[in-house]
Order: sequence, then C-alpha cells, then structure tokens
Amino acid sequence: KSENKEQAYQINREAAKFFFRALRERANPGYSYMKKRGIAPETLNKFGIGYADSQWDSLYRHLTAMGFKKEKLLELGLISQSKGKYYDKFRGRVMFPIMNTSGKVIGFGGRVVGEGEPKYLNSQESSVFLKKNNLYGLNITRQEIGREDQAILVEGYMDVVSLYQSGVRNVSASLGTALTENQAKLLKRYTDNVVLSYDADQAGINAALRGLDILHRENCRVKVLHVTDGKDPDEFVKKNGKLAFLKLIDQALPFADYKLSLLRKSFDLTTTEGRVDFLRQAARVLSDLSPVEQDIYIKKLAEETKISQGAIRLEINGNTSEKQSGHQ
Ligand code: ATP
Ligand code: MN
Ligand code: MN
Ligand code: MN
Repeated sequence: KSENKEQAYQINREAAKFFFRALRERANPGYSYMKKRGIAPETLNKFGIGYADSQWDSLYRHLTAMGFKKEKLLELGLISQSKGKYYDKFRGRVMFPIMNTSGKVIGFGGRVVGEGEPKYLNSQESSVFLKKNNLYGLNITRQEIGREDQAILVEGYMDVVSLYQSGVRNVSASLGTALTENQAKLLKRYTDNVVLSYDADQAGINAALRGLDILHRENCRVKVLHVTDGKDPDEFVKKNGKLAFLKLIDQALPFADYKLSLLRKSFDLTTTEGRVDFLRQAARVLSDLSPVEQDIYIKKLAEETKISQGAIRLEINGNTSEKQSGHQ
C-alpha cells in the first residue's frame, strides 16, 4: 500500500521533471506566456513550473518508456484512454506542480496558454491527491508563514506565484475549491493569523464569507481584504507593488467588521425598516463572538444606529438561546 503511494509520488515527480525541462527548451510557448505575465525565471524555478506540450502522447510515451505501467498513469490522471488509445491529459498548458508539505508531488494544475477552455485543469483526486487536505505553495512558504506568524490565503496559483515574486512570501492557496476544515487545521500548524485575499468579484466575496466561518471555528484570527485595483492579488501587486499590498493587509477587516460592512451595504440605514433589518442580521453576526468582543461591537452599533445597547443585547441573546435550543 505505502509502496503504491511511493510509486505514485515517483511518477508524479518524473512527470514534473518532464514538464520542467520542456518549459526551458527554446521558443517554448509556456515560457513566453509566463514571461508576458511578468514571472521571472527564478520564480518559475522556485515553484517548479513547467509546460505540457501540445502533442497527443509525449508524456505517455516518456513515462511508459521509463517502465511505468499505464494503469498507474491513468490512476494519477496523467493520461486518459479513448477507443483503445492513450493520450496525455494535459496538453498545451503551463504546469504548476502541487506538492504536499513533505515536498512530494501529489498533483498538477495546468493553465491553458492564452485564451481557452477550461482555463485551468487540475489533476483528478487519487490515492496521493486529496484536495481538501492540501494547500498550494505551502511546502515553499510555510517557513515564511511561521516567521511572519501570518498567512495570506488567495484563490489561485498565479496569485501565490506573483505575490511570492513581489516579496509577499507568506502566501498559499486552496486548490480551486472552497476552504476546508482540514486546510484550516493544516494552516494552523504554522500560524493562527490568516488574511483572506480572494478575488474582488462576488464569487470571491462568497468564498471569503465561507472561509471566515471555517477559520473562525478553528479559532484563527481571521481578516479579509479585497484588492482595490485589478481583479485579484496577482493583478494588484503587479500594478501597485509590494508596499501597496502590505498596506491593504494592514487595513484588512477582522471577522465581524467584514461581515458588518457587507451588511451595511445591503440595507438602507436611512429608513427605520432598513435599520431594523440591519440590526437583526448584525445581531446574528455578533452572536458568534466572545462576550468581550460582543461588548465592543454593541457599543459601536448602538452609536451608529441610535438604538440602545440593551435592545441590541436582547436581540443577540435571542439568537444565542435559539441556537442553544436547536431552532437555528
Ligand atoms: P489567471 O490569473 O491565470 O487567469 P486566476 O487564478 O486568476 O487565473 P481564477 O479564475 O480567479 O483564475 O481561478 C482561481 C483558481 O480557481 C485557479 O487558480 C484554479 O485553481 C481554479 N480554477 C479556475 N478555473 C478553473 C477551472 N475551469 N477548472 C478548475 N479549476 C479552476
Ligand atoms: Mn475568480
Ligand atoms: Mn488572475
Ligand atoms: Mn483570479
């Protein structure tokens, strides 16, 4: 069983080496693409980034020539089978090897060069690749995360690579899925302080809200920032540089402030109805906080809405007892 896993790691490593070499051949489309996106050769090396060429079966031929069985390659999602023929799963893509914290290659993310669908193709789950248990880049950035005692969580491979290159090195990404409890626990080995920096679109806001709750439940101190220029951290840091991004980190909103700021935007606080609805929802947010935190936010909210602290407290306690008696 563990022999099986060791071989899976070995096959993935050989595939990663094959992709790595290809990107460094002359006039490689993957290399040009990454260069156009501002990624320097040292960064490509650091993350082991490679290229899957656009032939049908070059990786298949390479790995079977090394003696690896096609059943294994199928299992790892490196090749597919159709009408008795085998072909490479990743073709014409920049390849991001995904490693676990021991540095073993467990899977790949492949980005199409330029426009095309799907934009990203990820390895299927396998005996060695469980998305919910791993974070991209963590094998490279975990020391820095520990040293800074803070992790910046982003959505994509390019965000990790680009922030890292700009000098923001305490960064990692979940693997194209919503953040999981296991990923939160993994991160907690290195720090309790997490800044969510997801894309500036509605999908990024929704992902941040889910991520907030998961990390909060694991007792992390979690904040949220959304870039104010460009659609994601990669675009922002390329345009505005490291210092501007560090400033956004400084201004990132803590758990409750972030949720309250979203609520403020969705209600009309100039009307009585709007203020009532806002406070109802706000009370729900505050019911997840410790008594001391609640006290601080109750004071702020009372001032803001001109509603008494006592009434807000009652509203929160109503929620808490509902939760405890299992109605909610
Ligand atoms: P780029 O900057 O290269 O356009 P991105 O990282 O900004 O890419 P997003 O569309 O924001 O791309 O997606 C964020 C992450 O979600 C990707 O890095 C990838 O892991 C995952 N992802 C995006 N599109 C797909 C897809 N079609 N299939 C699977 N995963 C995807
Ligand atoms: Mn997105
Ligand atoms: Mn992007
Ligand atoms: Mn993006």
